[in-house]
Amino acid sequence: MKAIILAGPGRAQLAEMPKPSAAPGEALLKVRRVGLCGSDLNSFRGRNPMISFPRVPGHEIAATVEAIHGEHPRLRVGMNVTLSPYTSCGRCASCRRGRQNACEYNQTLGVQRDGALTEYIAVPLERLFPAWRDELDPGSRELNLEELCLVEPLTVGAHAVARGRVAAGETVAVVGCGGVGLGAIAAAAFRGAVTVAVDVDDAKLSIARKAGAAHAIHSGREALSQALRDLTGGQGPDVIIEAVGMPETFRAAVEEVAYTGRVVYIGYAKEPVSYETRLFVQKELDVLGTRNAQPEDFLQVIAMLETGRFPVREVISRTVRLQEAPEIFAAWSAEPTRFTKIMIDLDEP
Ligand SMILES: [Zn+2]
Ligand SMILES: [Zn+2]
Repeated sequence: MKAIILAGPGRAQLAEMPKPSAAPGEALLKVRRVGLCGSDLNSFRGRNPMISFPRVPGHEIAATVEAIHGEHPRLRVGMNVTLSPYTSCGRCASCRRGRQNACEYNQTLGVQRDGALTEYIAVPLERLFPAWRDELDPGSRELNLEELCLVEPLTVGAHAVARGRVAAGETVAVVGCGGVGLGAIAAAAFRGAVTVAVDVDDAKLSIARKAGAAHAIHSGREALSQALRDLTGGQGPDVIIEAVGMPETFRAAVEEVAYTGRVVYIGYAKEPVSYETRLFVQKELDVLGTRNAQPEDFLQVIAMLETGRFPVREVISRTVRLQEAPEIFAAWSAEPTRFTKIMIDLDEP
């Protein structure tokens, strides 16, 4: 079968690999669509500290079940599925608390182990999610392959919203409207929160509104602090989700959130951040980290996408065939702002 292999930094190539088979407890999947995100671009460029080469990338997947080796309450051969690309050890502190998303020894598909830019993959049954919220409910519809392929990237933001215990009627500001921030906006709006998108890019703010943001703040043109106060009667948002990873936005979250509010950090800061820690105490804040996603986040994103309100077409910058993947990686690396979400269509010969 064909696969795309990252041979080293800046080197993606089309290769032949043996077709896998499903071991006990696994399903064999025919891969239909694979989404590429910023972390795949980092892997291609050799800037992801977790990656080793050679590596098959790809962790955002829509696939069809070809064979099942074991028992699963919902899966059938021929069903379209997406999957959780993480592993968990079952023994670390996170796993013992039922928070496998934060497993100390997690290995992500396409990063520490080979991923899905290939015609077939074998995956443990418990990692799979059908394209249906509930295939037995006449009110449910099957997600199409593009929607299904967007589930995983949207779960990261959905998990941040879950960590922030976002409730209907609360005001939630999401700082940074890239792929992860957009998932947080969609999930917060789906929970009935009044969602405020913050970014310095008009195009991203426009998509954020379509994903459910009730308000949009261009923090390059408007003073963030005043704009948030104006929207919240002077109190600040109940929850601020930081999805940028810059010291300024890390600090702004603590400064602008309401008293007794929650601050959720998804952005990975690349340098130390200094704080006025007095605010943690004075406001009695919950300051929370979040990473990856839990099975319930996958189910919630599938339910959210089923409503059809997420701007699926607008977030996909480009769709190409498998053999065009090396070219698109090179073009993206040369001009990183040119694409946000690239989709590889494996149905096209
Ligand atoms: Zn991704
Ligand atoms: Zn673990």
